[in-house]
Amino acid sequence: LQNPAQTLPEVSSSVGEFALIARYFTQPTSHTDLGVGDDAALMSVSAGHQLVASVDALISGRHFFPDAEPWGVGWKSLAVSVSDLAAMGARPRWALLSLSLPDNDEAFVAGFSAGFMACARTFGIDLVGGDTTCGPLTVSITLLGEVLKGKAVLRSGALPGDDIWVSGQPGRAVLGLHALQGRRELPPPFLADCLGALHRPQPRLTLGQRVSEWAHAMLDISDGLLGDLGHLLSASGVCAELSEAGLPLQALMDAGELSSAQAREAVLYGGDDYELLFAASPQHRAALEALSKETGIALHCIGQCLPRPLTAVTDIVLHRKEGGAPLRCPLRGYDHFSPSVVNQAPKR
Ligand code: ADP
Ligand code: MG
Repeated sequence: LQNPAQTLPEVSSSVGEFALIARYFTQPTSHTDLGVGDDAALMSVSAGHQLVASVDALISGRHFFPDAEPWGVGWKSLAVSVSDLAAMGARPRWALLSLSLPDNDEAFVAGFSAGFMACARTFGIDLVGGDTTCGPLTVSITLLGEVLKGKAVLRSGALPGDDIWVSGQPGRAVLGLHALQGRRELPPPFLADCLGALHRPQPRLTLGQRVSEWAHAMLDISDGLLGDLGHLLSASGVCAELSEAGLPLQALMDAGELSSAQAREAVLYGGDDYELLFAASPQHRAALEALSKETGIALHCIGQCLPRPLTAVTDIVLHRKEGGAPLRCPLRGYDHFSPSVVNQAPKR
């Protein structure tokens, strides 16, 4: 097939496609048989392991602001895939990067590549290939990894009686987004924290691998805690109840000067958090608390799984602190094709 970059109005007056690839996307590899430069890459999967694969596209104006800092776009586009592999209890190994660029804006590519490569180094990933074309700014990343055969943690294994846990501090990314959109003001130190969570998420890779020893089911929360919990519950055929006392609300209330209702909304529905949500037997509570101390990553036990319901689970009971009337919370998350998303200007 003809390369459109060669027939469309010239992309590359100063820097051509191949110069961009050579300069910004050809880096030494550490565990790859054949990397960037040939028609395809060659890798060897470790004995006794399964190959794990995940792909994500990030579109300018939909997943990141068109004027977003390029380093952060590079970091985040790989980090969200690392989060997917973390949620399987897997180890990422190789990435393929498909990049569509409106022009040969070398400053963007340089910043993007620096952020992408920083993330790749942090998590031990070789960039082994990709594609570079001219078009609306879109980043698509395929991440390949390994997991011991039969040891991947799926969404579907939660059992009635399991505890439900969430890592870290969900809710900060959406608060950062709302601050950028002028919908909320945040005290400056906390604003920086929230913008960091939004632009440079830290996938819970080590935690995912450690937790995989005990978790019956796990996923990462990219579309909002309750929306993603809904996916785990329906895949596992269980229902659940949550307790407000277990939710990490206080830190948001204190640092962000939020009401408890505002903090609850951010934690339960925020999205873009890349924390891990998992189900584990109560007999592992002490081990998980010790793991939290050891890693310095908070782990919150937020509720319990209940036996399979008679009807589809569309909402969930949240028991209030100090015995207020329980709340019913819909299990909704971010959906790119819901009418409210399709018909509005880019949300994020
Ligand atoms: P082909 O025409 O065979 O698709 P390309 O010209 O698209 O090859 O790419 C040449 C080489 O550069 C390939 O090895 C490809 O994997 C690699 N490559 C292209 N774009 C990127 C990128 N953005 N990141 C990493 N590798 C890339
Ligand atoms: Mg190609």
